[in-house]
Amino acid sequence: MIIVMKDGILPESQEVQQVVRMVERFPDVHAEVRKIHGTTRVLTEIYLLGSTSTIPQEPFEEFSAVEKVIRIRERYRSIGRHEGQAEALGFEYNGVHFGQDTFHVFAGVCAIDTPENLEEMFRALAGAGVQTTRAGAYKPRTSPYDFQGHGKSCLPWTFELAGKYGIRVIAMEITHEDHVKEIREALRAAGNPTGVMLQIGTRNAQNFELLKAVGQSEFPVLFKRGMGITLDESLNACEYLAAGGNHKIVFGLRGMKTNLGDPHRNFVDFGHVPVVKRMTRLPVCIDPSHSVGKRLVAPDGLLDIEHTTAQGVIAGANMVLVDFHPHPEQALCDGPQALVLSELPHFLEDATIVRRAYLERCKLTRGRA
Ligand code: PEP
Ligand code: MN
Repeated sequence: MIIVMKDGILPESQEVQQVVRMVERFPDVHAEVRKIHGTTRVLTEIYLLGSTSTIPQEPFEEFSAVEKVIRIRERYRSIGRHEGQAEALGFEYNGVHFGQDTFHVFAGVCAIDTPENLEEMFRALAGAGVQTTRAGAYKPRTSPYDFQGHGKSCLPWTFELAGKYGIRVIAMEITHEDHVKEIREALRAAGNPTGVMLQIGTRNAQNFELLKAVGQSEFPVLFKRGMGITLDESLNACEYLAAGGNHKIVFGLRGMKTNLGDPHRNFVDFGHVPVVKRMTRLPVCIDPSHSVGKRLVAPDGLLDIEHTTAQGVIAGANMVLVDFHPHPEQALCDGPQALVLSELPHFLEDATIVRRAYLERCKLTRGRA
């Protein structure tokens, strides 16, 4: 059950305390107070956890500070969009707002290699006015003989360079809970010049112990859908993050493995953007690079990666994670799918055109009787 408080009622207010006291009168139930950064307002919601099926709604509805009481389905308790829940689970991190109506491009390198290449990447982003990027220090590789990432050794100079070029958030995959500690310590040692969004990769989508650990952390998380499991299984796995208390989550689509001789590395699943936005209250990210996997050009001159980006953005994607590299031939991971820096302005302009078209479609729909 979720108790939604009226506008302006803060988590620490008397009104919330009163409701929490009433919740505590019921055995085996406890209350968790959450601040929700919605699309149009900031809300306080009180989640009743435990055996809530026999708890009546009426006593809570009688509080004048309560807007409504929602009985939630068992499925996707925390991340799900339940009957009567219009507000998205947005959040603010290091000055950047994420929600189901925001839009950010995270362009950057798949794996951090040299300070020179990273600086070139960050300089191009700053020149294009982009404050969000991707950069991997810990890489999960199919072969144990492939480059595994520089690990914690590259974090100090990565964070320092990010600060120098005004990067606010770096999406960075972690493959072990120790990496969270390493990132936290390196950020602190560098004086917090930037922020990190922890990335749970498709290979770890059902690594429940990792999900539990990240669910306890203060960092926002980009959870990537498992490439060979059902959407339901991915959403349930993602729920582990929220169940641990971390609600700063973005759900990522990155293509599905079909092994049916597809022309792309993975089968593009961006038609699921509105599906995930309807089933959950999470912002949704698309990763055209790991979906397409190649720097292919279509007969119309657009790259396949730009075409698929457009497909996700026109469907309402809130974030685009995309691989670039100043010298793809030197990249130690995923060079063949990296776009080059001279393509960055075009990529951004193209995405902006499509985003504008999406917003116009929404406006048109609002006018529909
Ligand atoms: C990546 O983003 O570099 C990555 C490994 O992604 P995925 O987990 O989607 O394969
Ligand atoms: Mn990659």
